[in-house]
Amino acid sequence: MDTTEVLVVGAGPTGLTLACALLRQEVPVRVVDQAPGPAATSRANILHARGVEVLDRLGALGDLPERAVTALTITAYAGGRPVSSLRFGDVGLGTARPALLVSQADIEAELRRVLAELGGAVEWNTALTGVELDDTGVTAALGTGKSVRASWLVGCDGAHSATRKLAGIGFPGAPIADRWLLADVRLDWPLDRSGSHGWLHRDGVFGALPMRMVGGADDVWRLMAYVPDAGAEKLGEDQVLEWFHRLLPERTGVTDFRIRGAVWTSVFRIHRRLAERYRRGRVLLAGDAAHIHSPLGGQGMLTGIGDAENLAWKLALVTENRATEALLDTYQAERRPLAVNVLRRTSANTRFQVGTGPVTRFLRERVVTPLLDRPVAQRWATAAAAQLWVSYRRGPLAEPTSRFARRPRPGDRVPDLPCRRANGDTTRLHAELGDRWALLSSATVETPLALARERLGERIDNFTLADVRPGEVWLVRPDAHLAWRGAPEAGGLARWLDHALRTGRVR
Ligand SMILES: Cc1cc2nc3c(=O)[nH]c(=O)nc-3n(C[C@H](O)[C@H](O)[C@H](O)COP(=O)(O)OP(=O)(O)OC[C@H]3O[C@@H](n4cnc5c(N)ncnc54)[C@H](O)[C@@H]3O)c2cc1C
Repeated sequence: MDTTEVLVVGAGPTGLTLACALLRQEVPVRVVDQAPGPAATSRANILHARGVEVLDRLGALGDLPERAVTALTITAYAGGRPVSSLRFGDVGLGTARPALLVSQADIEAELRRVLAELGGAVEWNTALTGVELDDTGVTAALGTGKSVRASWLVGCDGAHSATRKLAGIGFPGAPIADRWLLADVRLDWPLDRSGSHGWLHRDGVFGALPMRMVGGADDVWRLMAYVPDAGAEKLGEDQVLEWFHRLLPERTGVTDFRIRGAVWTSVFRIHRRLAERYRRGRVLLAGDAAHIHSPLGGQGMLTGIGDAENLAWKLALVTENRATEALLDTYQAERRPLAVNVLRRTSANTRFQVGTGPVTRFLRERVVTPLLDRPVAQRWATAAAAQLWVSYRRGPLAEPTSRFARRPRPGDRVPDLPCRRANGDTTRLHAELGDRWALLSSATVETPLALARERLGERIDNFTLADVRPGEVWLVRPDAHLAWRGAPEAGGLARWLDHALRTGRVR
């Protein structure tokens, strides 16, 4: 039987991110996917800032920033008139990596490029069909008739995750909105392609997003409409296009248009569901396999990519026997509360967008949407979507601090600060992370670095920067969150490392 350290099931954005991050840390990985090959069509169309940072740390951005649109504008119309223009851009977020309007297919292609550079590959036409769990690993049955023995199996196999079902992990939740129609179409019409458009119509919202397919046609638009009465049966491409021929003029008021064919159509219902747990023994879940919610707000791929980055460095330490399995429980403790937050926010937003009651309609059309034109609202909306605020301050790996303590506090994301390597070269903090840790100080330190290397291995370096107070060091995790800060002489750094690696708990 074939063996591997980690079997990654699913080569969507989550599985690919995880596989790249593990391979960068020299953990042997196999990636299997039931599909016959890479997807040419795309569900996600935008990756918010936090996800762009993760790709940057993995070296998987390629030239996406040059080719994508980085300042996304959404113009909202009520009663046929524009009422606000919400601009997602770099509004003082403290990141060099603002959101990218780019297709999921292009992001996956970049991740596969990195995977190949690292010596990995996706095994297509290879479905996971069975899982047998024991104390030392997992025996996975594959649709090819073969089996694989892995120390760990991570299900990144999407909403209908076979991994989740085979591991017996519940996925409670409920539908939150009826039928949506989606069509990526080649479309001639007079709308500006530098931004997206959303119409608040009494029969349901209608959206149009210009699609940015790298190297692809530049006349493709994604049309989305809420059509609660579209019927329960499955609609084919022709029927979906028929609906859009009717809905487009009805809801947007634009009559001068020509749909020249479809790239992809879909009919879907929005659900919110969250896995009861993210781990059962040696099986873990990440991405849509662990949480699904409304696509409004563009949080799904973003959250899955974040899950993968959080899990990768922990799995790497466990497979190297530098940490016990307890460290893996911090993955759920840190990431599941974020998924709860994402489910809550996206569900509330969706209910608000599709609500038909007079009060909801008044608030939506006359109060909230017009307010989005204000700079303060734009900053708030961009920041909320960006997920740069994600902090594990309340998680098991963050020592409690007073509310007056300086930022960043343990658990917080550390911004992409300019710093210096030991040889004096200038660099960016995030360029040094991804597969490595960083020890930051105002001047070069040797003893704390040696102490951290004893526990973490060679994958940590010391960088200097002025933001750190003399006498203090900051230990930064590969996912850019602050692990610990303080004066190392008092023994706090060694204590944090020993507790985190042995017990997965420092509080
Ligand atoms: C209309 C729409 C628009 C969206 N827009 C955005 C957006 O703008 N921004 C954003 O961040 N998110 C968006 N999302 C959400 C985003 O598409 C998902 O969250 C994302 O695809 C999840 O990635 P994943 O890798 O976890 O799962 P998936 O992308 O679903 O990948 C799962 C993979 O597992 C494979 N697989 C399944 N079962 C098996 C099996 N048994 N064995 C082996 N392989 C298997 C599948 O073939 C697939 O390749 C949108 C979603 C929709 C529906």
